[in-house]
Formats: sequence, structure tokens, C-alpha cells
Amino acid sequence: MDNNQKAYLKEKFDNRVNFDEMECVLYSHDIAAIPSLIAPLIGRTVPDAIVQPQNEEEFIELVHWAVQNNIALTPRAKASSGYGGVLPVKQGIVVDFFRLNQVLSIDKQAQTVTCQAGVVWEKVDAALAKEGLTVNLYPSSYPGSTVGGWLAQGGAGFGSYQYGWFRENVVSARVALPDGSVSIFTGADLDLIADAEGTTGFIIDLTIKVQPKDELDIIAIGCPEATDLQSIVEDIVKADLPLWSFVFINPRMAEMKNRSPLMEHNGHPAEERVLLPASYVATIAFHKKDATQVMAKLQEILHRCQGEILSERIAEHEWKNRFKIMAVKRLGPSLVPAEVVIPLSRLGRFMAEVENKINQPVVKEGTVVRKGKDGKPEVVILGFIPADQRKFSYNFVFSLSLSIMKIAEANGGRAYSTGLYFKSKVEKVLGTERVARLKAFKNKIDARGLFNPGKVIGYSLMDSAMRIGSVFEPLIRPFGNHVITHIGESKKNYPLTDIPADVVWYAYSCSQCGYCVEECDQFYGRGWESQSPRGKWYWLREYLEGRAKWNQAQVDTFLVCTTCELCNLRCSAALPIEPSWMKLRGKLINQEKRMTFPPFEMMAEALRSEGNIWAGYRKNRADWFPEDLKDKHGPGRKAPAMYFAGCTASYVEHDIAMAAVRLLDKAGVDFTYAGEPENCCGTPMLVAGKWDLFADIMRKNIEVVKQTGADTVIASCPACDMMWRNVYPDWAGKLGIDYNIKTRHYSEILAEKIKSGEFVFPANNIQPVKVTWHDSCHIGRASGVYEAPRDLIKAIPNIQLVEMEHNRENAHCCGSVLTLIKDPPVAADIGKTRLDEAVEAGAEKVLALCPCCQVQLRVTAKKKNMPVEVVDLARLAGNALGYDFPDPNPDVHSQWGVFDAFISLMTPQGFAKLMGTMWPQLIDAMPFGMGLMMRVMGKIPGALNLMKPMFPVLFPKLLPMMLPKVMPVMLERVAALIPMPDYMREQMPELMPKVMDSLMPHMIGDVVPLVTQPMTDYLTGKTK
Ligand SMILES: Cc1cc2nc3c(=O)[nH]c(=O)nc-3n(C[C@H](O)[C@H](O)[C@H](O)COP(=O)(O)OP(=O)(O)OC[C@H]3O[C@@H](n4cnc5c(N)ncnc54)[C@H](O)[C@@H]3O)c2cc1C
Ligand code: SF4
Ligand code: SF4
Repeated sequence: MDNNQKAYLKEKFDNRVNFDEMECVLYSHDIAAIPSLIAPLIGRTVPDAIVQPQNEEEFIELVHWAVQNNIALTPRAKASSGYGGVLPVKQGIVVDFFRLNQVLSIDKQAQTVTCQAGVVWEKVDAALAKEGLTVNLYPSSYPGSTVGGWLAQGGAGFGSYQYGWFRENVVSARVALPDGSVSIFTGADLDLIADAEGTTGFIIDLTIKVQPKDELDIIAIGCPEATDLQSIVEDIVKADLPLWSFVFINPRMAEMKNRSPLMEHNGHPAEERVLLPASYVATIAFHKKDATQVMAKLQEILHRCQGEILSERIAEHEWKNRFKIMAVKRLGPSLVPAEVVIPLSRLGRFMAEVENKINQPVVKEGTVVRKGKDGKPEVVILGFIPADQRKFSYNFVFSLSLSIMKIAEANGGRAYSTGLYFKSKVEKVLGTERVARLKAFKNKIDARGLFNPGKVIGYSLMDSAMRIGSVFEPLIRPFGNHVITHIGESKKNYPLTDIPADVVWYAYSCSQCGYCVEECDQFYGRGWESQSPRGKWYWLREYLEGRAKWNQAQVDTFLVCTTCELCNLRCSAALPIEPSWMKLRGKLINQEKRMTFPPFEMMAEALRSEGNIWAGYRKNRADWFPEDLKDKHGPGRKAPAMYFAGCTASYVEHDIAMAAVRLLDKAGVDFTYAGEPENCCGTPMLVAGKWDLFADIMRKNIEVVKQTGADTVIASCPACDMMWRNVYPDWAGKLGIDYNIKTRHYSEILAEKIKSGEFVFPANNIQPVKVTWHDSCHIGRASGVYEAPRDLIKAIPNIQLVEMEHNRENAHCCGSVLTLIKDPPVAADIGKTRLDEAVEAGAEKVLALCPCCQVQLRVTAKKKNMPVEVVDLARLAGNALGYDFPDPNPDVHSQWGVFDAFISLMTPQGFAKLMGTMWPQLIDAMPFGMGLMMRVMGKIPGALNLMKPMFPVLFPKLLPMMLPKVMPVMLERVAALIPMPDYMREQMPELMPKVMDSLMPHMIGDVVPLVTQPMTDYLTGKTK
């Protein structure tokens, strides 16, 4: 793609086109790990650009333009498929469907839903649930794959027992064709689009059939042999049992599941292990109304076929974890896939042959389709062989997938899909007649093959390789069979790298399924793969294999994760994602001394000198404390519990701390408050990667608690709570510090007292109001406190609590601190997503208890003009007790204004602008007579231009010597640019030099190109 073409795309799509080389690498693959011997046959698959059209008009324009310019277009939804369909084998443009993600309409009468192609199943189903409906069927990639992607790829999944293949459940599809027209496909014409992987057109939206959402009954059954399983299903079909879904695993899979690591929280298992028997385990779902009929007949069938009903616990566990099939990948860390469809009548034979011929542990998942393509029952078998893609032997194990395919074909089966790898099997997969139609249509509308080249039909090197591989399969098989596979996590057994060994293992264990992508706020605030957990794992693989290097942008990508922890819960492989990024923060910033976000340097200095991040004076830390409570709870008093206010409630949103202590007092809690000696909890330094400083602060805070005689810390701020509850104990353990401190959140104490009747709100005159509750990530997912704040809200008279769509452990992050510090406009977009939910729920007020969430949501509400008020929970409860508190909004907006201005200043552009206001002083401050020399050069035409190449070398050396001299004028200029409160301006002479010392060595390289021309202009007299 040439520069003119790039310029066109940039003008047309602005921030929805991406040419960044590394970003393009992240859009060059799907879930499959291709072995090193096969990769060269595929060739380069890194696109020239990624484009994200946001509506049909843009799709059409893009198609017209690409066809005119002979540029290949490869559609990509969530890339959760593994057949190479999304690989841009002719480079060109990857067309990302990310922004076509809306549910358009639901027709209850007709029982259909119309949605854009790029919407994820989970989201469609959530919209349907509000109308009492649900989808007919879905793939087990439901949390991370799209509706359009499934029609394009083709497939069966949960619900296929009753509803068959997905294509049968599609009413119509609206498709952008290669000639730039848009056409609606229905009935038999859908064959030209379904399973065609975008080779004939891009699905823009589609209408699919849905069903009433009835409650399901789930049971699990076990049986020893595949032949028994086959008999059971055959009898079920014969008896016409009204099942909705029938899926099963083989004994090897059961064994692997029993061994796969559990989801962890704070380094401890966060779920119970449910052991599966070493047998075939099937999970059956049917509508509750059919339970009597199903159960009566099923018992009889099982009795006949050596099956038994397994415990409810197993059924519940298997159903709850039905999407988490990738947990077993942790034992690989790679899996070689083999996916086939076989007639039900050959299930037993097929399984037995695989066991006989394949000398590797093949773990299998099966899905029964009652009415298969030829009307008879068939079974989709997804097999995996654990292997290690980093070893050459992976090539041999990979070849066994061909062996499985051959066994399937010998039993009347076929490949599941075509894509890039199985084009040679297309007639078996789709049928001869359909292929002929598809080819004729393709020739007619896309003769040059620009739409998803190299897929489904046509010829490529891969096809010959597959054919040859198939012929020589019996010769290759022994190699695959003789590879010794170690099954299990072995985090230590690595080529040494600078990345922690467990993080390396996780990078390869990540299945790239994409469940973590859509709901990651770092991702949805920006929209690019590099910003998602999946993208970061892939980047790490690229780094480990020597194809990527650290740069500041990549460091920032790991730093800017908001630590919301939602990805940990969503991950199909139960990977500890957020803790892995946390480890990298320590490695990158604390160990390697790379640059953290510049505002953290300012906070660090304020923290070192005054113990808080807002650059207030320590002597003012306790100013908020109510005068009348000082004797009872104030500084200097000993008590069993200590209230910890944290920085933001102490210096900005005073109402939070004031209301919290009022509530605790009214509830009869014996507590004290340390006052001035209290320090920031350290969260900002932990996430900034400044871990030495964090450890220092933690030590001081632990000492403060000891001085008060307390053994319990009561927090109001969720980040402080998380430190005292989870992080300090862990760090204290590692550093050998005595730690016997319990942590309670004030809402937990109050909820208990409300429950026991010890604390009651009086009837009050508060106007009835509808509120919603924002679960902040750090009190919710990090500390598990979900119900106590709700109990408190419900106890306040005249308050009606409504829930937002994403609540409790699924709650969305507000987008605070790290996004706000790094990318304020992105923070406002993420914040709006959260506030939109509150508006949709009909709430007038959003209640929160996290000071940082409140700052972020208040700033967002103002920026985006949202019709909701953000109120602190303790404040509302305190109001209900008859107390008034100062309005925090003026302080929030003025202090945020200062912060925001500092964020803009502490960028290369900000510093360049600042330097532009002080050229005379900067030139005079140059050491060794350089300033004078520069002035003389300025007078000689062209001389400075000759010197320009030296500036990047010169400036980093000179600047440290110049800064002390120009500091007074710099402080004046900063004060003029940023109207600061007095206490901050007073501290600037001490803070600013330290901040500059920390930042400039990292940033100067980016500043020099920005100041070279302005300085030359000044010296040559073009500007003053
Ligand atoms: C954990 C896991 C479980 C899975 N379970 C199942 C399962 O139960 N059943 C099953 O069938 N598959 C399953 N899959 C495979 C995969 O999820 C499905 O094929 C899914 O439908 C792909 O959807 P996607 O949105 O990721 O599409 P992608 O993978 O992005 O695309 C699939 C193909 O369609 C094309 N395409 C995508 N969108 C469009 C469009 N709008 N217009 C035209 N062409 C388009 C792409 O070019 C590509 O060729 C699973 C995968 C994983 C990782
Ligand atoms: S913790 Fe939150 S922001 Fe960070 S990667 Fe996970 S989901 Fe994204
Ligand atoms: S991190 Fe987990 S959820 Fe995300 S792509 Fe990897 S395996 Fe899937």
C-alpha cells in the first residue's frame, strides 16, 4: 500500500485505521498456533492496515475504494476461529467488525432478533433476556465470538441437538458485495454467504431465530465406553426426547480437567475443585417443562446402556464452566486441534480407532446435532492434543490432526470447516452442488479474488501440502506418536528470559479465544487489539521469540491497565492476567527503571515530602475531621480499630471521610483516627511500578496502626481497603514484617449492625429517589464486598435501588486513575459507558464509595453532560441521619483542573511548549559557552541547520546542567500556565526539580525533535 493510499484511509477513517507495524502483527493470526514447517507455506500474513468501518456506508465506500485500488480485504470479527479464515494472506486491509456491535431490533411476535454482524453472542443474549427470549443455539465461544462470524464460518454448538447447524437458524443476512452493492440474502441464497468466510461478501447485519427463555434443567451422565455413549444418544433420538443440548467429553478430557489449574485470587484458589469420573461425561440440557418426560425415559435408557446420572454438583459445575474449555491448555501450554464431524452411527468406532492409532492423549469434546446435514444425527468432535509450540516436535504432533481427519473420513465423516487449511476438503464439507454455486457466484462478483483471498475455494500451496500430508500420513504418524509430551504446568522449565517464568508460561497458555477482549475497559476505551489482554499475551510471545522489543509505548500499554480484574474472571484458561501485568510493572519500572506515567513522578515527590498524592501539606491532612468527634475518636486516642481516610477523602472529597466517621460513630463503633501521621495507602505507587517507595509507605502505615493500638483498619476507600486487606499482608510476608491487622470496610460493619438491629435509620424527609450502585473494582472484584453497600442503601428510607446491567463481579470499571492519568479523553469515554448504564437503569443518582471512581465519574458527567448525579454512599447515609456535608464538586473540578493541566504539561509536547516560552534563559543556561556559540551560529545562514543532527546527542548531555539555572523561570512559567492553589505553588520549587530529574532522561529523546525547529527559529531571529 503506497503513501497516497494510506493518506486516503487516514482521512476517511481517522482513528479507526491503524498502520502501526506491531498492531498489524496482532491482526495477522487467529487462535491456531501454526507449526514452523507449515508457516512458510502460508507466507506473510501481516496486513498493511486495519480498518474499522462503523456503518454500512463506510463499508460500501471501503469496498469501492479497495476494488478500484486492487487491494485485498480480509474480514475479521473476533478471530476466535482456527481455520486461518482471518489471515490476510495477500496482506492489504484487515476489515475489523469491532464497531458493528449493536443489537438492532427484537421482534417478539416473530421471535427473531436483528443485530449487526460484529456483536458478541453474550451481548445479543443479554438483550434478548430483557424481552424474555434467548438465542436458539450458540457456540461455546459465546463470551468472545460474533453472530456474523458464526454465519461466515459455519458451525454447531450448545442447542444444536434441537436446532441443528447455525445456518438453519438464520432468517436473512444483509451483505456488502464486492461490486459495492448491498443485498439481502434469504432462504437457499444464504448458502452463498454461510460458511463462505467473507469470500463472497461482508455480512453487515443478520436476522436470526430466537426462542422464549425457559428455565433449563441440566444433568450430567457418565458411561465407560464410547460405544455406550453412542447407544445412549441413539436411544435418546429414537425415543424422541425433547433435549435442547447434548455435549460430552471423553475420559482423557475429564482427567485433564481434573488436573487443570483453578482460577486464583490473590494467589489462592478462588473456586472449588469438582472432580470428574474417568469416563465419558455428557452434559444434557432440556427445558424444565419437559423434565418429567425426559427423566423417566432417560433412566431407562441409561440402565440399558451402562450409563449413570452423575451428581448435581458435577452437572452444575460442567454447565457453569461450559465456556471455559481452554482451562486444559494450561497443561500444554499449546494444543494441537483436530475438528471433525462424524455420523452418530460411527461414534464408537471413530473413538476406538483414534485411541488405537494415536499414541498421544487426545482430549475430546463432542456436540450432538440431532438433524445433521443429511437429516441423520451427527456428532461434531473437537479434539486437542497437548503439545509445546516452542519445540520442533510440535510439527510432528501437529501432523496427527491429519491422522484424526483420515480416521473421521474413513468413518463417513468430514472436516468441520474449510478456511485456509482445508480448502481441498470443501466438497465434503459443503457438498458438491453448493460448492459449484459458490464458485459461480464468486466468479461473477469477485473475479479478481479481493474478498478474503485464499479461503474456502480456490487453490494455494497449503492445499498441496495438505494433500501430500494426507497421502504420507501413515509414514508421518509414528513421528507424532513418538513425541514425549509432558502434561502439566512447568513454569520453571524455560529458556531464561527477563520475563518472569510464570508469565512466560501464561503467554503461551493463552488460547487467544478473546473472552477477555470485549469487556476489558482498556480495550473498549481504545478499540485496538494491542490494548486487550489477548493482544498483550501475543505481544509477549513476539517479544520472547525476538520479533518485538520494548519501547515506551509498549511499557505504557502494560501500565495503563486499570487493574479492574475483570479479565481474570472471564479468561477461558483461568489465567491470572491482571497479576501478571502487575509483575511486569515491577520489572519494567522498579527493576529496569523505565519511565512510568509522568504524573506519578509528581505524586511520588509529593508523597515523599508530605505523605499524600495531591500535593497538600501533611499538617492539613486531618483538617476535615469533625471537631465534635475529636475527643471520642480523634488523633491521639487509642482504640481497637483505626479509621484510614486515604488521600483523596482527606484532601479533595472531604464529605466521604466526614460521613464515614459519622456513620461509624452513630453505629457505636469504637475507633480512632491517626490524623497527620497517616500516609497515602500506596496504591498509586504500586500501579506506577515504583515499588521501593510503595514498600516504604507500607512500612510507615503499618507503624502508624501499631501506634494507635488498633488491630483492625476500617477503610472507606476501596483502594486503601485492598491494600490493607490483600496487598499489605502479602508484601509484609515477603519482606518479613509482622502483620496482624484485620481490615473491614465501613459498609461491612454497618451492614452487620443493620442486620442485627443495632443500627437503624430514622424516618427522614429525604425526597424519594432512584439510585444505582457502582461496584468499584477494588471493593468488588478485589475484595469481594458486593452486598454490604447494597444492604446499607436498602436500609435508607425513601431510596429505591436499581441495578446497572453490569453489576457485582461483572461490573464495568469507571475508567479511573490509570486511564485518567494517561489518556483523559479515553477515560471520559470509558466513564460514559458506565454512566450510560446508570441512565439506562433509570437512576437519578449513581452511588459510589470510591473517591477515585467519584472523581472520574464526576469529571466524566461534566465533560459528557450526563443527566446523573454522582453521590458518595456514606454522604447519602449521613444525610439520612440528619448531617450536612460540604459539596465536594467544586474541589473535585478545581483540583482535577490542576491535575489535568499537569498531565498535559508532562508530555513531550507539553515540555516543548514550556521550553518555547523560555528560549533566552535556556540558551543562556547552556554550559561551556555553548549558548554564545549557538547565538553566533544563528547569525550565520544555514549554520544551525548543519548542527541539527547533533542536537539529539547534545541536548540530553546539556539539559541536566541547564535545568538548575532555568528552574526559577520555569517555575514562573508553570505557575502562569497552571493556576495552582497556594499550597501547591509553595511546594513547586522543591517538587519540580526532582520531577524533571526523573522524567527528562526518559523524555528528552521525544522532546528534542519537537524543539529543534522552534529553537532554530528563535536563534535565527524568526521568532522572539
Ligand atoms: C473457546 C472456543 C470455543 C469455540 N466453540 C465453538 C463452537 O462451539 N462451535 C463452533 O462452531 N465454533 C466454535 N469455536 C470457533 C469460533 O469461535 C467460531 O467459528 C466463531 O463463530 C467465530 O466467530 P468470530 O466472531 O470469532 O469470527 P472470526 O473468527 O473473526 O471469523 C470467522 C470467519 O468469518 C469471516 N468473517 C467474520 N466476520 C465476517 C462478516 N461479518 N462478514 C463476512 N465474513 C466474516 C472471517 O474472515 C473468518 O473467515 C470456538 C472457539 C473457541 C476459541
Ligand atoms: S485488569 Fe481490567 S483493564 Fe486491565 S487488562 Fe484486565 S480487564 Fe483490561
Ligand atoms: S487471556 Fe484468557 S480469555 Fe483472553 S484470549 Fe487468552 S485465554 Fe482467552
